[in-house]
This record gives sequence, C-alpha cells and structure tokens, in this order.
Amino acid sequence: MIKTINKAFQYRLYPTVEQEKVLTSHFGQARFVYNYFLRQRIDYYATNKGQEKQSLNYHDTAKMLTELKQQPDTVWLQESNSQALQQSLRHLDNAYNHFFNHGFKFPNFKKKSRKQSFSVPQNFNIDTKMKQLNIPKLTPIKIVLHRGMEGTMKNVTVSKAPSGKYFASVLCEIEKDVKPKKEGKETGIDLGLKSFLVTSENESIEPPKFLRKSEDKLKHLQQLLSRKVKGSNRRNKARIKVARIHETISNQRNDFLHKLSHRLVSENQAIFAEDLHVKGMIKNHCLAKSIADASWSEFIRQVKYKSEWNGVYFGQTDRFFPSSKRCFKCGWINESLTLADREWPCQGCGQVVDRDFNASQNILQFGKLSTVGQDMSKPLKRPGRPRAIRRVAELGSRLL
Ligand SMILES: [Zn+2]
Repeated sequence: MIKTINKAFQYRLYPTVEQEKVLTSHFGQARFVYNYFLRQRIDYYATNKGQEKQSLNYHDTAKMLTELKQQPDTVWLQESNSQALQQSLRHLDNAYNHFFNHGFKFPNFKKKSRKQSFSVPQNFNIDTKMKQLNIPKLTPIKIVLHRGMEGTMKNVTVSKAPSGKYFASVLCEIEKDVKPKKEGKETGIDLGLKSFLVTSENESIEPPKFLRKSEDKLKHLQQLLSRKVKGSNRRNKARIKVARIHETISNQRNDFLHKLSHRLVSENQAIFAEDLHVKGMIKNHCLAKSIADASWSEFIRQVKYKSEWNGVYFGQTDRFFPSSKRCFKCGWINESLTLADREWPCQGCGQVVDRDFNASQNILQFGKLSTVGQDMSKPLKRPGRPRAIRRVAELGSRLL
C-alpha cells in the first residue's frame, strides 16, 4: 500500500547580524498577526454569538489582513514575506480546529520570550551547492546541511530557540510502499519512572547516565535562576544557561528515544503499549515526572509513526484496563496496590509479581486479545467503555 508520509528535516541556520535583524522583524510580524487575529476572532464571537454568522474563519481573516496592510498604522506589515503572515493565520486556524475537534486548550497569545518562528509554504528553496536557504524578501541565509533530505519540500519553518540558535525545519512529503511485516516478535511495553521501559521479554531499559546528569544540572541551574532579580543582567545570563541545558537535554533525549524506537520497530511485528492517559492520572508535579511525561508521549509518537512506516502493528490498551493491578498469570486484581509497591504477592496464584514486568505482560495479553481475528494491518477497533469493562472481567478466565 502506498502511503504518504510527512517528515521534517531540521538544519542549523547561521544568519549574519544584518539578517538577524530581518528575521527578528519577521518573527515579530508573524506574532503580531497571530495575536491580532486571535483578538479579532474572540471579539467577533463575543459580539455575534447566536447570530447566523457568529465566528470568523481563515478566509475572513485573510481578507482582513489584506486590508490591514493598507492601513497607515500597520503598513509596515508589507515589509514581511506575505506568505509568512498568511501562514500565521493558518496556524491560528489550526489552533482553533485543535481546540474544537481534538480536545486541545484554547489558543494562547504568543509571547516574545518563547520560541520565535515563522513559516513559508512555497517559493523557497535550498541551494545545496552554495549551502543557502532562499526565501523571498530575505537575502540567502547560510544553512548547514548535515544530513540528506527525502521527498518533496512542502514548507519551511524558520525559528530561533530561547538559547539564541537559529533553525530551519523543512517539511517533506514522502511516498512509500508499506507492506505489513510478517516476521518478528510481539511485545508489550510498560513505561515507567524507575526504568524508562520494561518489555514483556523482561528487558528493562534505563535512560543513559549522561541524560540523568544533565537533568540534575538543570535542576541546579533552575534554582539559581529563581534567586536572581527579575530584569537583571545576571538573571538574563542564567536564563540563557537554563535554555542551553534544556536544549542539550532535549537533544540527548531525542537521540535516546530515536535509537530505542528504531530498535523496537525493527525487532517486532507487533508492539503494544498502554494508554498514556493512565500515566497522566498520577498526580505528581516533580521535575522527574514532567520530564518523563514529555519523553513518554514523544516516545509513543515515534513508535507509532515508525511502526506505520515499516508495516508493524501498533496497538494501545484501553484506558480502563488495569495493567498494573492485574496478575498476568491468574487475573486476580490487587485493589490495594499503591505506587510505592514495586512487587506484591498475588493472592490468586501465589507468585510474587514484579510491578513493571507484570504490566508489560498484561499489555501484551490485552493487545493480542484485541487483535484476535483482526487483520493486523488495519487499525484496532477500540471497544467502548462498557465493553472494555466486561472484557477486563473476561480476561482472567480466558487467559487461565
Ligand atoms: Zn496471580
């Protein structure tokens, strides 16, 4: 089956001092347009609620933008690449769409202190000989192409990280013929805080030591930052240090996650994981948890898309499935299990249950049951809540 896959390739940019000024003004204008039209859309709804037309869509805002550029107060918007400004409107429209249809938060106003960016959908190109990124209204910017690109370029996003580095992220469309994988193992994976991951083959994977070290350093730097006076020079220096270590951690973590997800996908023909909402229910606001949260969802994202690209079946358990509480051997449910219990004696069969290994076994069993009689290349039909609860009760007896 031919699949169209979107893949982003990120490269470092080295603008000159002159170009940095132009980029700064592009970031500012893209942010202005986003915030201005977010305000317009909010106000329009407030005054027209209940009317036949109660909200503004992308096309309304695009028309308004053209008029805005003619106004004496905002004529400076003409200095920017016009597609970059239109793209801001698209991003805003997507944010609304995510809010209404996918359970995301209501769009926020963009702040200057965060990551700055603008996107250009067409008419840009990368000169591989001269190593330059060409965007209309901008002079060619030096780009370091440390790896090749595949597919057709769809758009480019130019950004400045809080650490001060510039990047170009090129989104490409790749066509790939994917056939369902017929060989390899089936595995269940349990994500955790103690080990990053435990598989149903009882392999536990720890995050690399250097990643832990960077995380300790971040904790220390954040404490230092919080003691500095707001608006002071020292605080700004400390802020850049924190931003840099954030960047290092995110690079180290991504490298670790990519290698691990690649390995899992190449070794297995089916991978089952739990629903991450279950993990989210653990109320804990410590740093380790917030880092783990980000890693888990990024890891699942990677396993999901790499599985899709390689014809591997990927399934997630129902969120009402008690993967930790249920003994994988006999199906007895330990209602009194707490987060601190690393192992517990099963009252059904007498075995001593290791928390993470048990969960990975349950996830694998649940995954296998869910796919019985199903074409492995098709998405799993997710049972509704009542059926899922029945299934939990059934599981014990069917697996004995
Ligand atoms: Zn048992």
